[in-house]
Amino acid sequence: MLVTAGQTFNILVVDDDEDDFFITSSLLAEVSEYDFKVSWCPSYKGALAQLQTNLYNLVLADYRLGGKTGADLIEEAIQNGIDIPIILLTGKGNVEIDKNAMDRGAYDYLLKSDINPQSLERSIRYAFTRYKSLKAVQKSENKYRAMFENSKDAMFTLNEKLEVVDINDVAITIIGLEKTQVTGEAFYKLFKNEIEIKEILLEVDEYNELIDEEIMLQILDGNERQGLLTLTCEKDAEAKRYYQGVFHDITELKKAEQSNLLAEKFEATQRFVKMLAHEIRNPLNNILLSIDNLNTFDYSNKDVYIDIVKRNSLRINDLIGKLLESFKIVDIELERVNFKDLIQDALVSIYDRLTLKGVVMKKQINELVTIKADEERLKLALVNFFVNAIEAMEENKGILLITVVEKQSTIDLIIRDNGCGMDESQQQRLFEPYFTTKKTGVGLGLSSAMAILRSHNATVEIESEVNKGTAFTIGFPKSKF
Ligand code: ADP
Ligand code: MG
Repeated sequence: MLVTAGQTFNILVVDDDEDDFFITSSLLAEVSEYDFKVSWCPSYKGALAQLQTNLYNLVLADYRLGGKTGADLIEEAIQNGIDIPIILLTGKGNVEIDKNAMDRGAYDYLLKSDINPQSLERSIRYAFTRYKSLKAVQKSENKYRAMFENSKDAMFTLNEKLEVVDINDVAITIIGLEKTQVTGEAFYKLFKNEIEIKEILLEVDEYNELIDEEIMLQILDGNERQGLLTLTCEKDAEAKRYYQGVFHDITELKKAEQSNLLAEKFEATQRFVKMLAHEIRNPLNNILLSIDNLNTFDYSNKDVYIDIVKRNSLRINDLIGKLLESFKIVDIELERVNFKDLIQDALVSIYDRLTLKGVVMKKQINELVTIKADEERLKLALVNFFVNAIEAMEENKGILLITVVEKQSTIDLIIRDNGCGMDESQQQRLFEPYFTTKKTGVGLGLSSAMAILRSHNATVEIESEVNKGTAFTIGFPKSKF
């Protein structure tokens, strides 16, 4: 209990000798600065029980307490979470005993033979002052501990060997191991890209601090987290270096950015196509009308030419019609459907292609997952992804992996192939109408698929490496209704 001026201080004297207690309490009565209420407890066990009551501001404990000592009492009190300053009264000067008592948590010690009101007062004042400052430190420590534990960012401290000393729950979640597995381990060894991480950590020795360095953590479970690392190098009381780190995870942010970019691109293309179609259609209508008029005159062979013009005009018109169709977001009806069944249905229509190409298909789909979808349209969109994957893979070497993963706010469908892959520039143009790298390709598959996915509020992410393969992650929003 913290004491304030003008208050009565409750002191417990623990001494198995009543005469000694009498002497101590009369000395306390002579201390003029404080107003003491002194209580007596003659036994070790009794003292522990008294301390639990939390009634006392200070304890004066004799060193000898039957079979136990005052130092034992201090230690046991601390172990029991008792938070009261204890001053030890020792029989005769013994430096070892005194030192040992201080090490075990005594606030001060007084030689019984030397006690007088002045030394008592000084010792008590000293104990209170120390108690107060310890409380203040504890308070600020608790504050920082709470900040550390409750931080939304991953936080950790490392010793000079870059081993984990302390780590918060956010960091533990990212790393995906138990706290006990991580503590004491070299921090960089917790990642696949350990050499790179170690280099980054050591950079701080040169610059003293790193601020918001963008890094990629390759987690041992195969995931990746992108984020900003702030790291400082400090020195502890023994002048040993230690490191404090904060990792601000921006993986989701980056994903959202990418998906936003794709959406913007799509919208820009949509505007362009509409404009283009409109501009072409008007003159085209005029051509058609003129031809109809031309038809009324009698020229030889005119029918043949007119037919050609008309056929081609119609073809262009038809093409533009198809192009527009691929972008049209008709009023779709979203209904809750079983995702596995929907995927299964979409796969039925590509079964022959799969077999012909000798593709091995693997599926990991939870039976019970549902999403909100327009079944027929979404099937069409998925078929486009499946067909592209099959076309990208070599005969009898293809592996098509279809996975559904339930995330916190999305249901993700991952379509992964081990086909030809795409380079950066191909990935950029993927959803543009008429973009194709195939001899007989039209290049409208993915742009129309994208239109359908967008009306499902789904996001699309691409991961692709040339000659390795491609993975499309389509994220459907989880909705309760
Ligand atoms: P198309 O299939 O008619 O070429 P798409 O819109 O379906 O048109 O696809 C556009 C282009 O995107 C393809 O020509 C191909 O270059 C690339 N592509 C799409 N999916 C994949 C994939 N899984 N692997 C490699 N390239 C792909
Ligand atoms: Mg295609």
